[in-house]
Amino acid sequence: MDKRQFIKQLGLGTAAIVGSPLLFHSCQPKDTISDFKLWIWTGGGNKTEADWDKELEGLKNLGFYGVLVGGGKPVLEKAIPAAKKHGLQIHAWLWTMNRPGDPTAQQHPEWYAVSREGNSSFDVRPYVDYYQWLCPTKPEVQEFVFNGMMEVCEIEGLDGIQLDYVRYCDVILPRGLWEKYDLVQDHEMPEFDFCYCEDCRNKFKAEQGYDPLDLDDPSTDSQWRQFRYDSITHLVNKIAEGVHQRKRQISASVFATPSLARKMVRQDWDKWNLDFVFPMVYYKFYAEDIGFMKRATEEGLNDLNGSKPLYTAFYLADKNDKEVAEAVKLVKDTKANGMAFYDYGLLNESFQKTITEALKQ
Ligand SMILES: [Zn+2]
Repeated sequence: MDKRQFIKQLGLGTAAIVGSPLLFHSCQPKDTISDFKLWIWTGGGNKTEADWDKELEGLKNLGFYGVLVGGGKPVLEKAIPAAKKHGLQIHAWLWTMNRPGDPTAQQHPEWYAVSREGNSSFDVRPYVDYYQWLCPTKPEVQEFVFNGMMEVCEIEGLDGIQLDYVRYCDVILPRGLWEKYDLVQDHEMPEFDFCYCEDCRNKFKAEQGYDPLDLDDPSTDSQWRQFRYDSITHLVNKIAEGVHQRKRQISASVFATPSLARKMVRQDWDKWNLDFVFPMVYYKFYAEDIGFMKRATEEGLNDLNGSKPLYTAFYLADKNDKEVAEAVKLVKDTKANGMAFYDYGLLNESFQKTITEALKQ
């Protein structure tokens, strides 16, 4: 298994300000198939401009609307001309709080999140080797993350950015992953509970009058939970403001539903000032049946209450054609604005045909 597949095995990485002129109108009726938009994650440092031309022409012909491209500036600069040529939206896929081996962050061990056990994510990586989380509360971290995102926004021709890993480390893993890690996470375990750094505790204490570490069970304290939701929300909204000033769009890939996202990774995503959102309804990771594609999508739509478009993300690995067809049908039955697929490398010819057929029905 390559590293990227392994990341996806964990299931978590994959990735509109009201009144903004960039706002899509989610309340518009979906009259035609073209109103149901398709996105896909892709990337690849080895692809030439000619490779991108061929790939994106193929995606356009299949009816795709946009691509979420990983790999940073060198990759984007090769992909953007092809996206423009074929009339596809192109957004940069960016990791936000999880920064394994980030060369700048590595020079600042004090930027990393600290667990309730007192271990820094800089030294002790929870669950997997590629988990190394920054603390969202620290002003220096916010500045570092913000500036990096704004630099990407300056890339000529880019339509927007898509935030991935924009959350805390999983304090609770999706149910379908417990066995894989040999854990029974029916409660918050200290080694996976972040962030208890000095800055977070001091800021919280200044606001609420007590230190979360003095609580018998910090997991039951609603103010402490809210503090951490707000810490991520604050950062997201700050980034959104900068992105909109630069006339770009911003979205995020988030956990399947707002309630699960809050519980598992402290992601209060229905409150964020995004232009649209990609809930990753990777139902097998949640040990759910395929009907979860519809249930989770509807919960997200309900919580968003028309504030922004929602594209349900579907993980193509470990699926057959019947499941792909069923997933498309289930999401199409909702008021979702479309779907996003993870990822291009998994989109074989059979799946391409299946998706196209399912959309026609
Ligand atoms: Zn912290």
